[in-house]
Amino acid sequence: MTHSSPNHGERRDDARPSLIVIHYTGMADAASARARLCDPAAEVSAHWLIHDDGTPEALVPEDRRAWHAGAGAWRGRDDVNSRSIGIEIANPGNRPFAAAQMTTLELLLARIMARWSIGPEAVIGHSDMAPGRKIDPGARFDWARLARQGLAIHPAAPGEDRPLADSLTAIGYPEADPGTRLAAFRLRFRPGATGPEGEADRRLADAAATAFGRFY
Ligand SMILES: [Zn+2]
Repeated sequence: MTHSSPNHGERRDDARPSLIVIHYTGMADAASARARLCDPAAEVSAHWLIHDDGTPEALVPEDRRAWHAGAGAWRGRDDVNSRSIGIEIANPGNRPFAAAQMTTLELLLARIMARWSIGPEAVIGHSDMAPGRKIDPGARFDWARLARQGLAIHPAAPGEDRPLADSLTAIGYPEADPGTRLAAFRLRFRPGATGPEGEADRRLADAAATAFGRFY
C-alpha cells in the first residue's frame, strides 16, 4: 500500500495506538483536503482519509505518529498523536456525512479496532480531546449509529442527576471552563441542545460516565 503523506514521525515512548480520533476535513472538497494532508509545509496529516464517495485512502502507516490531533488530552494524557489513529472524513462541516462515507468508516473502525485491540470507549471525536479549540466531527456526525454496532459509546437512556463536572472527568474530558466542557459534551451526546446546564445534561453525562467506566 502506498502512503501518500510525508507528515509523520516516530510514536513517542513506543506508544501503540490505543485511541481513534474522528475528524472532518473542514475543506470544500476531498482533493483540497488531500493536498493539504500531504503537503510537507502544512505539517498536518491523518492515517486515513475517507473521500466523498466513501473510498478510503491510507495516508500514513498506522504504526507511525501522524499529526492530526494537536493540543489536547483525553483521560488525563496529552500527546494524543503518539497513541492514536486519526481518521479524516471529507466534509466541509456544514452538511450531513454521505451514507457511503459512514459505511466505509464502520468497516475501517472495525478493522482498526481489531488490529490494535481498541474498544468502543476509545473512539472519540477531535472535539472531545480539544474542547473549545475543535468542533469536528460536529453535530451532524452520527455517533448513535456507531454505538449500535459497538464501534463507539453513546448512551440513549439517562442516568442519575450527579454533578456534571465529575461525570465529564470520568468520561475523559480534559479540564476547561464549565461552559466549554458543556459545549463539547453536547456536541457529541446532545447535539442541538442549548442554554445553561440542565438536568438532562447531568443525567446523560452520568449515563455516559457509567458506560465508559465499564471499560476503564
Ligand atoms: Zn480535526
